[in-house]
Amino acid sequence: MATERTLSIIKPDATARNITGKIVDKLESVGLRVVAQKRARWSEADAQKFYEVHKERPFYNDLVAFMTSGPIVLQVLEGDDAVAKNRAVMGATNPEEAEAGTIRAEFAENIERNSVHGSDSPENAANEIALCFSDDEIVG
Ligand code: ADP
Ligand code: MG
Repeated sequence: MATERTLSIIKPDATARNITGKIVDKLESVGLRVVAQKRARWSEADAQKFYEVHKERPFYNDLVAFMTSGPIVLQVLEGDDAVAKNRAVMGATNPEEAEAGTIRAEFAENIERNSVHGSDSPENAANEIALCFSDDEIVG
């Protein structure tokens, strides 16, 4: 297994409930290391750019509104197979379908307010990390 990096975001529903530490604990418990982390408040333009791949989806405008509604925590996670490992501990997009013990099963409010983002492929991870962090902000 190769050491990989992936982009994680703790979403506004989770920062509002002050559960960022509980989410970091879940990530670390499966062996992912937080090698960069910052809190931010996205502008509409930031969210539109990040979610450009979804711009034709019916939920796009609501998603942009949600992701700009409060603070977020952006992270780079590192570990063996980090992209897949993070997706596994996140659980399914819809918390009703998420496996017990996953972040979304435990913390998500609904399919939109689902507490975390995680890159879905190594290629997208590299692009998302470059969009959100400069090299000197990442300390492995
Ligand atoms: P994931 O975050 O699991 O990779 P997607 O990339 O498909 O899921 O969707 C991005 C985000 O858009 C989701 O995490 C969720 O916040 C929101 N979303 C996805 N599907 C829906 C939906 N059917 N209704 C409302 N919001 C949605
Ligand atoms: Mg996705």
